Order: sequence, then C-alpha cells, then structure tokens
Amino acid sequence: MDEQKTKGQMLAENILYEGPDGAETFTEEEYQRADDFSQDYKRFLTRAKTEREAVAETLSILEEAGYQPFEAGKQYVSGDRVYLNNRNKSLVFATIGRRPLSDGVRIMASHIDSPRIDLKPHSLMEDTGLAYLRTHYYGGIKKFHWPTLPLALHGVVCRRDGSTVNVTIGEAPGDPVFCITDLLPHLAKEQEKKPAEKAFDAEKFHILIGSLPFKDDKASEKVKLNMMRLFHEKYGIVEGDFLSAELTVVPAGSARDVGLDQSMIGSYGHDDRVCAYTSLKAALEVASPEFTHVTVFADKEETGSDGNTGMKSAFLRYFLEDLAAPFGIPVRTVLSRSKCFSADVNCAYDPTYPDVTEKSNTAQLNHGVVITKYTGSGGKGGTNDASAEYMAWVRALLGDAGVLWQTGELGKVDVGGGGTVAKFIAELNVDTVDLGVPVLSMHAPFEVVSKIDVYSTYRAFKAFAESRK
Ligand code: MN
Ligand code: MN
Repeated sequence: MDEQKTKGQMLAENILYEGPDGAETFTEEEYQRADDFSQDYKRFLTRAKTEREAVAETLSILEEAGYQPFEAGKQYVSGDRVYLNNRNKSLVFATIGRRPLSDGVRIMASHIDSPRIDLKPHSLMEDTGLAYLRTHYYGGIKKFHWPTLPLALHGVVCRRDGSTVNVTIGEAPGDPVFCITDLLPHLAKEQEKKPAEKAFDAEKFHILIGSLPFKDDKASEKVKLNMMRLFHEKYGIVEGDFLSAELTVVPAGSARDVGLDQSMIGSYGHDDRVCAYTSLKAALEVASPEFTHVTVFADKEETGSDGNTGMKSAFLRYFLEDLAAPFGIPVRTVLSRSKCFSADVNCAYDPTYPDVTEKSNTAQLNHGVVITKYTGSGGKGGTNDASAEYMAWVRALLGDAGVLWQTGELGKVDVGGGGTVAKFIAELNVDTVDLGVPVLSMHAPFEVVSKIDVYSTYRAFKAFAESRK
C-alpha cells in the first residue's frame, strides 16, 4: 500500500535510521544454523576454561585442519596455514592470502583469559581441622558472586625437573568440587550492612578442599598433610611444586542453554572465548582468502594486557615481521595497511538495570554482533576510537554480507568504563574497531549471550576474513 504513505512517512523511510534489526529478521533456517553452531561452541567453552586450555583445544582443531607450526624465514604462499604457539597461553594463526603482505592483512584479535580466582604460591593451609587453598583473584570480579559456588581447580604444576602436570578437578562426572564458604544469614547482620564492595574480603577467599586428617598421633596439621598426600598420589607433586604452578579456580560445570526457548547460552567465560571461538570458526572456513588473515588469541586482557603473553607483548609484531621478511617487506608496511577486528564482548542492555546505560547507544540481545567504536572511560580516555572511514567500511562489509549488526557503547558517559586489546593493536598503526557479542551479567560466574548474536558474530568475522578490498 505504498501509495497511501504520506510524504513525511516516505521521507522518514528514506533518511531516518530505524535502528538495528532484531531476532524477527532471522529465518527458521538461519536460527537452526545458529542453534547448531552454539552446540559446538558450548562444547568448546566447557573444555576451555583457562587460556592454556583454550590454546590446547584450539591447537588440536588447527592441526586437524592442516595448520603447520610457523617457521620464520620461510616464504609462505597463498593457502598456506600456520600457527605460532606463544608459551601455551596465547596463539597466532594465519591463512596466507592471494595478495602480497605489502597490501596488509586482516587481524581478528580476541582474548582467552577470563576473570577467576588464582591460587597463591603458598596456598595449602589448615585451620581448625579444615584444609583450604589461599587465593589471589584475577581480573574484574564482584566478590559476592563467588562464595558458595561449586568451583573446579584447573591449571598446571611445573616440577623442578622441568616436567609439567595438568590439573583438572571438579569437571568430570563423580569429581568432587570445592567452594568458598559464606556466613549464615542468622549471623550476618553486620555483614549485610556493609556495601557490597566491603562485605567480602578477598584475602579470606579460602577454597575449602578437605576435612579428614591423616591418621598419625605425632604429625601436626594432619588435614593439610592428608590433602597434600591426595595431590601427591593423583599428580605426583609435592607442596614445593605449588611455587612453580598456575592453578586457578573457576565455576564448575558445563555451558548450558538458558530460557524456555533455549535461545541463550549461560556459562562461565563467554568473555572473551565467545569471540575467540567465532573468529576461529571463521578462520577455518576461509581457506583461500584475498588478504592474509591472522587470528590472535591473547592472554592477560583482564588484567591490562601486560606480560609476554598479553597484547602489549611484541609477539604479534614479531610474527608479522617474520612472515614478511622473506619477501623483503618491512613489517611497518604490512601493519600500516592492515585492518583489525578487536574481537571482544560488550555489555547488553539489561532492563533490570536501565540506569547505567543509554538505551539508544547500547547493544541489545538478539540484535546481532555489536560494533563498538570506542570503549574507555570519562572523556574517551584510554581507548582506540575507530575512524569514521573505517566505521563506514565495516558497515558496508556487514551490510553486504547480510549480517545482523548493531552498535553499542559501554555504559552511560561517566558511569564507568573498560577497555579491550583494540588500543594495543591500533598503536601499531592498524585500522582497528571493537566488534563482538553483547553479554548479560558480564564478568559474573554465569554470563549470558544469545545464540543469534553468537552466530552473527561468527558471520561478521567470516565476512572480514573473506573481504576483497
Ligand atoms: Mn573481554
Ligand atoms: Mn572482560
């Protein structure tokens, strides 16, 4: 009934932005594909709860797909697939494109660490007949989330002889779990008066791991001794080995569907393995790209991207330098002509907490992958800010590929803020924008994403890896 539209309606249709499309634009077939995709994603999430596990899981997928360990100095040709494992905690992998590296590459960079509770080096202790592990939390957590949650122990212990043991307790059926205890409400009058930030003392985040003593009249700290005996029997480690270990506790259990309609996924660690997984799947499927595409899984984003496995490390630059050197191409040329999707999550609008976000500039669940021009805090401090030119390029790319997308900011002006790896890649003179999945309850032990958004993010990375200009 076009002829019945008023002039104003037609004008509005032509020149006003109506906002992003939502779930209703997804066909049944598309939704089925999104649901299928999410089944594999849930398996990945459940198996990869730490950066080391994410690297191990990804390496087995890459090797299966024919990726080879990267050799510096080798002249790679179109279609070659390589990976560089940085200390089992971060990873770079690439598929060589048809164009020369001097035309730049496509970088998809996510992080594979998540907020959690690490063990202290001197960890094992006993108090009044109970054995505990002392901890030091990692990343941005709300402390009240963690007490009374079933927890699993993950990580590695490196012995003096150089051998390494992988530890996982609390995930297999029949495994015990651990926990941080909390005060009963009957005696919590004083605790409940405190602001949430003060109610829980992270120094007292002691993980309860046992209660039975080793039967010996003369030994002291018999419960601690008994727990060390169990660690020794299972893993062949002694207490001193905790000094050269990376052990962490994370929520126990599997990723699972949320909602009667099973439209969402609830899990620990969506941030940011949801972007790692979607970029991995896209990279695997684009086997003969126009531009070389490079996927990066970084560690330490949740604590500021420091260290030799974080995005501030030179490992990506060195990789590109080594890739380009055999062709006599300076890495600065490669980087200056490259484009990057900094693949990270953003907050989803939560109707329960509308006050912290400005609705028209906040991502909504089921409205697709979210493009975030800038993050940071205050007056756009501490962030990459994607150029208008690059935003236009991304809009066109996703629009042409029929990807469901939206834009979002991280909260109202001056309410808070955050950052991603974007600024560290932009510093290398790469056009960079943040792009990823909107999340409810970000950084909580149980974060929620929508299957439509996960699938749309995968499709966005695929369009990027396939891009021809
Ligand atoms: Mn993140
Ligand atoms: Mn985060």
